[in-house]
Amino acid sequence: MNTLSKLSLNNEKVLIRVDFNVPLNDQGKVTDDTRIRAAKPTIDYVLSNGGSCILMSHLGRPKGKDAQFSLSKIQETVSKTLEVPVIFAKDCIGTETQERANSLQNGQVLLLENLRFYEEETKGDKDFAKQLSSLGSVYVNDAFGTAHRAHASTAVIASFFENKKAFGKLLEQEVSSIDKVMNTGEKPVLAILGGAKVSSKITIIENILEKIDHLIIGGGMAYTFIKAQGGSIGHSLCEDDYLQYTRDLLVLAAEKNVQIHLPIDVVCTEEFDNNSQSQIKPIGSIPEKCMGLDSGPDTISKFRAVILESKTILWNGPVGVFEFPNFAKGTIALGKAIAESTSKGAFSLVGGGDSVAAVKQFGFINQVSYVSTGGGAMLESLEGKDLPGIAALRV
Ligand code: AMP
Repeated sequence: MNTLSKLSLNNEKVLIRVDFNVPLNDQGKVTDDTRIRAAKPTIDYVLSNGGSCILMSHLGRPKGKDAQFSLSKIQETVSKTLEVPVIFAKDCIGTETQERANSLQNGQVLLLENLRFYEEETKGDKDFAKQLSSLGSVYVNDAFGTAHRAHASTAVIASFFENKKAFGKLLEQEVSSIDKVMNTGEKPVLAILGGAKVSSKITIIENILEKIDHLIIGGGMAYTFIKAQGGSIGHSLCEDDYLQYTRDLLVLAAEKNVQIHLPIDVVCTEEFDNNSQSQIKPIGSIPEKCMGLDSGPDTISKFRAVILESKTILWNGPVGVFEFPNFAKGTIALGKAIAESTSKGAFSLVGGGDSVAAVKQFGFINQVSYVSTGGGAMLESLEGKDLPGIAALRV
């Protein structure tokens, strides 16, 4: 891996693709600086090794130059979070920006205007990438959140930096965490997949079956499996088009010696509502009028036992409607069990928007080994795809 530590950064102008696509409130203030904090180790490393930083990012999905999406809005937060003064360039390319970059001194940080003010960015335009590349002498990609995009600043640009390009520290951590689950992790390896739909996780399931020993399937996607096995699921979430698929998958898993663990009981209600009266039923005996919204107590114990036996754990997707406090118990218990297993030496990786939200919300974020910052990029990695942003750093 081309890591930062392999490069000499003294007197270098390091052009870093960061993911500062942070949420803003109505007043244009940053409401969550997680992504900025995530890039700090790379920026600190460059500055303390005698280089300067030119930070480039997108923010939102502007159509042309739209002040609402200007990175000037985040300049103050970036400076506060990084604990250094930050100079702002009103454009990401052009003569003025080039001059600013040229006059940048070691130890200084320059933040460029939104890359997506130019449609050339998402189109992966070569000339645009070349203009960006002229701003720096070294290229670093630390934006895992956009590593699955073949954009000008995430992939195309790398070809202008022969040997002077590297993974940022965040990207390096993301890649090695996924590698631990997929290739080098201690056995038994467990994947926990939850969330709403089987259809959205098919490619992941097929790819990880090659790598894992256990697969827990929970949440809304479990009901398609249960119905396919002849269970009554009331009007729980179900994808009827995938019934045969789930049967085939169980056969395939058995052939590959992967143990699949499905829920055995369920908390169900008549309404999709936090305050709806609930009851606990065996998973295949959900009354006609009801739907399953959370894992039952026996399922929680069953899943917990598998988690505690595993040495490498991947979690993607909640195992109930955790947004409703009355149906969050299964997801909380799962997070707790992963934290416990981690404290006993297991490696745990949590990824995907909803599971990350759950570990944050329920306070497990510091008790798991790694929480991925990139939703789509993480999912595509699990699908076995070579991400353009990562591939471009290798050549
Ligand atoms: P996904 O985006 O596919 O990972 O799905 C995440 C969503 O699945 C969350 O919003 C959960 O509320 C939802 N979910 C989990 N379990 C269930 C369930 N039993 N019934 C309906 N939705 C569920």
